[in-house]
Amino acid sequence: MTTTTTPTAVIATGGTISMLADPASGRRRPLLTGAELAAGVAGLDAPLAHTQPYAIDSADATFESWLTLVREVARLHPTHAGVVVMHGTDTMEEAAHLVNECLPGVAVAMCGAMRPPGTPGYDGGRNLLDAVAVARDPHARELGTVVVMNHEVLPAWDVVKRDSVALSSFATRHGTRIGTVHDRRLRLLSRPLEFNWLGAVPARAPDPDAVVYLRLTGSPGRRRFRQAIAGAAGIVVDALGAGSVPSAVRADLLEAAGDVPVVLTTRTGSGPVQAEDAYPHAWDDLLTAGIILEKRLDGPRARIRLSLGLALGRQYAPFEPLC
Ligand code: ASP
Repeated sequence: MTTTTTPTAVIATGGTISMLADPASGRRRPLLTGAELAAGVAGLDAPLAHTQPYAIDSADATFESWLTLVREVARLHPTHAGVVVMHGTDTMEEAAHLVNECLPGVAVAMCGAMRPPGTPGYDGGRNLLDAVAVARDPHARELGTVVVMNHEVLPAWDVVKRDSVALSSFATRHGTRIGTVHDRRLRLLSRPLEFNWLGAVPARAPDPDAVVYLRLTGSPGRRRFRQAIAGAAGIVVDALGAGSVPSAVRADLLEAAGDVPVVLTTRTGSGPVQAEDAYPHAWDDLLTAGIILEKRLDGPRARIRLSLGLALGRQYAPFEPLC
């Protein structure tokens, strides 16, 4: 049982939120520890327990590092009042999704910063303050893993970094904002749906080369496409629109689906892959070949789900609400 004196676990992993200029090179590196960072945040008076399994730019995050993070969360959450993860923003959406796939029903609030410490507009302190408030909230377990940035609480399955520099960069593809945080209080705006999360942690990190992820364009080159999918253990393709696959590469994708799982996502900003009424039978050949239409996840998340599934020895199931 947690009480007001139970500490919240804070896992620091690097990212801009912790990046100071290295005196030797002048380049920013993740040098600030979680404890140092928290000590400088006015109003952050909740008890915290700090840990730092690694400190990297999240562009260098791997399945290996994310699995380490998952194991840290699994170790810490039973004895703490929620878990906060500080992470670089460039791959935060993937990290959040992977943690939630492995550990659904665990209160994890992820945060980072769009500006480094000591620069005008540094947002790391307030994002950490908000994330601690969310992790300690009585509703936190129902929310699972969320991203807390710019006073907004966004679900792991749908959050995206949609602007490379804006403080308001983080948003959701489908508009599924869970809540906001003001004055260290979570204000819930919607209840997140329950999904068919994998709910398992693979013994070993997935092979990052197992699944190939491709984004289709108009006028795709068949030779390059064939080279890219050759030898993959799984394929995720961002199709055009609601699932269109150009004729130039269609036969190759259909053939590949006879050997390995192929998941179609959409390269559009939101919406499902589906044919339904407007184009009856348009996707019949894809469905007959066993190609999986993903209605909710974007391509990078489908890649994570397929990669984890392969590592767990499970078939890909489209990500769907349980209701
Ligand atoms: N490159 C940094 C990272 O992802 C960017 C950030 O944290 O905002 O670690």
